[in-house]
Amino acid sequence: MTRTVLTAANVLSPAADAADVTGFALDQGSGVVIDGGTIVDVLPPGGPAPQGERIVELPGRLVLPGFIDSHVHLLWLGEALGKVELTDARDLGEIQRRLRKARAALGDEGGVVLGRGWLFDAVEGEPTAAMLDEAVPDVPVFLDANDLHSVWVNSAALRAMGITADTPDPLGGRISRDATGAPAGMLYERAGLELAGAHLASLASDDDRDAAIERALAAYSAAGVTSVVDMAMDELAWAALSRCAERRGGRLPVRVAAHWLVADSGDPEQNLAQVARAAEFARDGSPWLRVIGIKLILDGVIDACTATMVRPYADGSNGEPLWPSAALPPVVFAADDARLRIAMHAIGDGASELALDVLEELVDTRERWDRRPRIEHLEVVSAETPARMARIGVTASMQPVHADPAIQDNWRVQLGDERADHGFAWPLFPQAGARLAFSTDAPTAPHHALANLHIATTRGSALQPELPPAQPEYAVPLAAALRHVTLDAAASYGEEHRLGRIRAGYDADLVVLDADPFAEPERSLLDLRVVRTVVAGETVFEA
Ligand SMILES: [Zn+2]
Repeated sequence: MTRTVLTAANVLSPAADAADVTGFALDQGSGVVIDGGTIVDVLPPGGPAPQGERIVELPGRLVLPGFIDSHVHLLWLGEALGKVELTDARDLGEIQRRLRKARAALGDEGGVVLGRGWLFDAVEGEPTAAMLDEAVPDVPVFLDANDLHSVWVNSAALRAMGITADTPDPLGGRISRDATGAPAGMLYERAGLELAGAHLASLASDDDRDAAIERALAAYSAAGVTSVVDMAMDELAWAALSRCAERRGGRLPVRVAAHWLVADSGDPEQNLAQVARAAEFARDGSPWLRVIGIKLILDGVIDACTATMVRPYADGSNGEPLWPSAALPPVVFAADDARLRIAMHAIGDGASELALDVLEELVDTRERWDRRPRIEHLEVVSAETPARMARIGVTASMQPVHADPAIQDNWRVQLGDERADHGFAWPLFPQAGARLAFSTDAPTAPHHALANLHIATTRGSALQPELPPAQPEYAVPLAAALRHVTLDAAASYGEEHRLGRIRAGYDADLVVLDADPFAEPERSLLDLRVVRTVVAGETVFEA
């Protein structure tokens, strides 16, 4: 097999060992030698030009380890990329204008209008079906909120789903209602996931899902992402990903590891059956597509006051945990016995305390293994939480894109006090000795790795770069941020021995940028472009 040498202006890679969470040094090189999908050598800076091999010269470029997005939703992202984009619609009038246009594009045959990413800040008061009926009265409209924790629908959609005043709220979810008890247009938490989600899934074909997966993978390759961890795998997404891998001879352009979503059914036996299903898939994975753990969603989101807080929101309400405390440990222990990794969504400080109570019992009382538990989001945490996580080896899995100042107004109002000034406190975790991995949680936020790094390093906005940064004291240095999206992200699921670094023996997963932000510190990361993405030595994207 021909050895390939990539030569560039600079090659950078995290240097310190994964155990040393405070070390942010970078290794430097001038070229990468690849053989058979693996890195076999890194050329020293300033050394002689390599001879006699397949040389790919990338003058002026920066080569980094491929970005690892360690919390994503591939099928939803692919579906979202096909929906009306509403994140930048600043008011109801603009949302309605875009929906009218989408309705017109459907023509006489009709169909369904799907939208995504709308912000609570864009609407005055609670969104209603009547607001959407003004724009689209005749076909169903389903609009995912930016955080994907609620769905806003019109009256035609309520009719299509058969939701009436007699429909009970599902477990862990709520249907908004008017004074008479009739459904009013909002489906919160599991009402959205299960009523709207199930209805739309019943309309979508395998072909639709296959196309969505292809869209998501292509979007990630173009963003320089070489590995992802899908954080809510289910039967339909798994089948679509498996078909996609099959079409490509078992390989994917992005390595996919997945946590199977286990939702509380109210029935302990049924909960354990979901864990058993995840364990079944975990047995026959490949390096390209495999189930590595389970995902448990402990609470909701701050924007909708459904995240579980130690103290109530500004309006006096609080979010109930989505898992009753008695139901959680049996599921966690059963998954752990099956050697499945545990990831728990915990946005509120109350929820991460619940997660840690269970994880401490797990780590302190059960058989030792390299379990790598993780907590997702951690938007507001108690003072002692980072140290508790460090003691038992829990990774903080956080999403800088969720802290974009452009989407923080409602978030701050709901908290209503000093808690809003201590949100998304990324550096506290490595300072306490806990591993920090960055991800995007796309499509709850844009999947662009460089925009994510921009927010991580500046606390500024990628959506509206003119906005002032929010709590810049929590920004992380570029070298640290880079490590959190490469080596630390790999370590969040035990892959730091082969992914997330440019060094001999590692998989040849690389991203090439058009310029070096370390050489031009004043340059915005938002101006950088991914020019090439390499996975296992093969170019999967070229600008
Ligand atoms: Zn997520």
